[in-house]
Amino acid sequence: MKPVVYIARSKLDPGSITVTVFKMLDQLWSIVKPKIESGSRILVKPNLTIDKPWDTGATACPHIVEAIVRWLQMNTDDCEVIVGEGSMLGVDTFKAFEACGYLELADKLNVELVDLNRQPTATIRIPDGIVLKSIDVARTVLESDFIVNVAKLKTHILTLVSLGMKNMKGVLPYKSKKIIHFLGLDHGIVDLNSVVKPNLTVIDGLIGMEGLGPLIGRAVKLGVLIAGFNVVSVDSVASYVMGVDPYDVLHIRYAGKRGLGVVGLDGVEVYGVDPSNVRIPFKLPPRSIVDEYPGVHFILGDPCSGCIGSVVTALNVMKETAELKMLIDTYGCLTVAIGPKARLEGSSMGLTVICGRCLYHMSGKGVFIPGCPPQSYLVRDILRSKIGLPPVYVGEDVVREAKEFYDKMFRS
Ligand code: SF4
Repeated sequence: MKPVVYIARSKLDPGSITVTVFKMLDQLWSIVKPKIESGSRILVKPNLTIDKPWDTGATACPHIVEAIVRWLQMNTDDCEVIVGEGSMLGVDTFKAFEACGYLELADKLNVELVDLNRQPTATIRIPDGIVLKSIDVARTVLESDFIVNVAKLKTHILTLVSLGMKNMKGVLPYKSKKIIHFLGLDHGIVDLNSVVKPNLTVIDGLIGMEGLGPLIGRAVKLGVLIAGFNVVSVDSVASYVMGVDPYDVLHIRYAGKRGLGVVGLDGVEVYGVDPSNVRIPFKLPPRSIVDEYPGVHFILGDPCSGCIGSVVTALNVMKETAELKMLIDTYGCLTVAIGPKARLEGSSMGLTVICGRCLYHMSGKGVFIPGCPPQSYLVRDILRSKIGLPPVYVGEDVVREAKEFYDKMFRS
């Protein structure tokens, strides 16, 4: 049997979303008939990478998750359902739960919320791993009998799209997230998905995100949900809906090559709405963020999306407030080094900014911005100080303290 993917349209109000999710799950279960044993532990893992509400396009809609949990509670026998996520580096998961409406949801449904960044972990082997031979994963995930992966339909500045497979990175504690970024994100995503496999993936395309995803792109209203049991096939269909050839998404292509699922629409049985009827080509992230900020020279050394997101967020605000123009007028150019493999080697121009803990060893070669990733307000305030503007968010003492902390912690 070909992998089954279901596409549904929905209005955006909670009532319509609930009806759509119930119908979609009823249909999927009647076609595929997966079994959830009595007494199972079910983990529902929404994408709450950041503390921004779902209608920004950055995070998964709580009404979808509520409907999924209700459906599971009504259609399984004596199962425990928990909702777990580990937000991106620098974001407190419970702040994301709060900002995205999950605290109310947990109260209403009597389910536990779990911060996967702070759970005890276990090391699992990855026998066919390309960049990872083993990885630490939150025990809660490994002890779950059924995982529902609730991802978002959005672009990603580093991986082109962020869908089901990418969302699984949230099951990792901070340390493992960083390791994946250090070693190679696309292969790392596939390595992870080869051993921690979601049983059901639901992509929230009610409001997606295009452009500078996954954090600060533009919200796109689609009113679409895409679901299925094989994450690679779901991602393939979802990327098609965004106007992206799934073979252009490295981690989808690699997953297909490694036999984790079918890439492309030909090998998939699509139910519900015809994908071509909901296809809206998304504006893709710039292949190089250099294009977005004339006068800014980026040296990218395999940076984490958290670092890129912080820097881009800060630069966007500074572009709007003309602070960026002031900086470039003052220094001629701004060089921004991000990511553990960034090297200056004579390519630095104008004011040089060294971002993040992994480049602390180069902190003497420019303006160092502490953090892993640095917070965007810190990036902006430090840059403002270089053109004589007072801090907006933090005082100079905070910046000095952070630098002293780093000197103490990481001086070799
Ligand atoms: S400083 Fe930034 S690029 Fe470096 S490890 Fe931390 S988040 Fe990743």
